[in-house]
Amino acid sequence: MTENIVPGNEVLIENPDDGQPEKYRNPYYVRKTQNWAVEQERQRHIQALYSVGEYCVFALMWHLPDFQKGLVGRCPTCYVSQGKIAEAYGQSSQFKCPDCFGTTFEGGFRAIIVRPAIFTDADDSEAFQARGVVHTQELTVETTPDFRVLNGDYVFRTNNVRYRLRTPARMTLRSGFSHPWQRQSNLTYNHTRAAEEDPTSPAYDIPFSKDVLRGILNIHPQQPANFSDFEIIRAPLIPADED
Ligand SMILES: [Zn+2]
Repeated sequence: MTENIVPGNEVLIENPDDGQPEKYRNPYYVRKTQNWAVEQERQRHIQALYSVGEYCVFALMWHLPDFQKGLVGRCPTCYVSQGKIAEAYGQSSQFKCPDCFGTTFEGGFRAIIVRPAIFTDADDSEAFQARGVVHTQELTVETTPDFRVLNGDYVFRTNNVRYRLRTPARMTLRSGFSHPWQRQSNLTYNHTRAAEEDPTSPAYDIPFSKDVLRGILNIHPQQPANFSDFEIIRAPLIPADED
């Protein structure tokens, strides 16, 4: 018996007796997305972050696509002032520019936010390589799904250790027939690898002293704390044209 699948309520199935197609009710159905399932899974995940995680600062930097969308200009200190040279080479004159933290974009960061996160443990291992002492071990960090991490963003922990983040892995919950949009079905978009930065990294120029970080992050309220007085958000946390 062969099936001739046609869209709609009916299918054509060949009758084995006479070889003629006969119409039957379509046996398949299109499953609707179960939004409650995503909600519950998100709640469990965020509760896990608040159960065994810690507060940390995410420094989301400006990236080339932000510049291309007109959200930010080039850094007047290290890029614009270099004129044709910087334009030709597409890079700034200063790796450690104090105004853009090496991004070449004005202000350096697109957002500074505080979120709960879980870090895996890693022993501090150092290796001496051609570019100096590097921390070879990477750990993984997992946080809330309400913002987008890109390769080159940073996370700062309470002890003032600063990590450079990689592009995260997306994890969505498929609960029905639909494209897995980030806003609708994303559970833990921000599950990413993090590598400890050397103290000479521009990450340490982003101006929070050790004491300020500790003062902000090392708190233990019974309910999730509100950090909006401290946070700086200059552009949407999830790019507006990407759901
Ligand atoms: Zn600069």
